[in-house]
Amino acid sequence: MPGANVIAIEEHFWTPELSGSGKKNTGVPQRLSDLGELRVREMDEAGIDLQVLSETAPATQNLAPDAAVTLARRSNDFLHAAIGRQPDRFAGFATLPTPDPAAAADELERAVTRLGFKGAMIMGLTHGRFFDEKPFWVIFERAAALDVPIYIHPGPPHPAVIEAYYKGYPGLIGAPLGFTVETMTQSARIIVSGVLDAYPGLKIILGHLGEALPFLLWRIDDTLAKQVTLPRGFADYFRQHFYLTTSGAFSDSALLCSIAELGAERIMFSVDWPYQPNVPGRKFIDAAPISTHDRTLILGQNARALLKL
Ligand code: MN
Repeated sequence: MPGANVIAIEEHFWTPELSGSGKKNTGVPQRLSDLGELRVREMDEAGIDLQVLSETAPATQNLAPDAAVTLARRSNDFLHAAIGRQPDRFAGFATLPTPDPAAAADELERAVTRLGFKGAMIMGLTHGRFFDEKPFWVIFERAAALDVPIYIHPGPPHPAVIEAYYKGYPGLIGAPLGFTVETMTQSARIIVSGVLDAYPGLKIILGHLGEALPFLLWRIDDTLAKQVTLPRGFADYFRQHFYLTTSGAFSDSALLCSIAELGAERIMFSVDWPYQPNVPGRKFIDAAPISTHDRTLILGQNARALLKL
């Protein structure tokens, strides 16, 4: 792992028990199931040294608490075994059984201290509940104590939101819009909730170049201050606590906006494999109009520092 210069950190797999019903003709199910030859070959084709792996959405967020605890533990053990077979190519983010928040905090600690995982990834809402709600703070508390980041990843939008916002337009529910709206809302709620004041060391990662928040940052910062009294401005919290990845967002203008608002030290390369192919993701960074220094940071140096790789 010390030789890893190109690191991608939002790269998915699924365990047999949590596998979904992905479209068979896309190659996605086959790739999610592969923790060996096909995955490594496609990493090599794009010059990706290391993938930090995560169980794909919806993972265990919408299971009954008991089932979530059992299957999260099995998923993390399954991933740990795969990392053990190729420790120079893979690392892991834990799946957490958020329907049982206390158990989720304990599983995070087990995954980090016993399995060597680098943090955790949460796939959207937990039974329709946002992650900033007080019962989940025990997870943030443990992440801060362990000094590991939590990656807030989209999941399926709340059924009431689907009904109100996307009825008649099912194509907008997922990655085109619904995922982003949900995840930017999770992020804004986390900032407003006060959890970042309670745990000042908390580190949050967002994919998809920040779920549109870099573009909106000035307006949110300006107008929120007139609505609510926070100890600090919205942009201050965002710049101190949040890290972004390029997963599934290969846009020069979005990258430049993210760098302008947060600095290149806060941006990390990711592909979102297998929902996006590796080679175009790598070509995007290689061709981006940024300095060699910033490219080195984004391709791997930032992830090595944040995840202690
Ligand atoms: Mn993803």
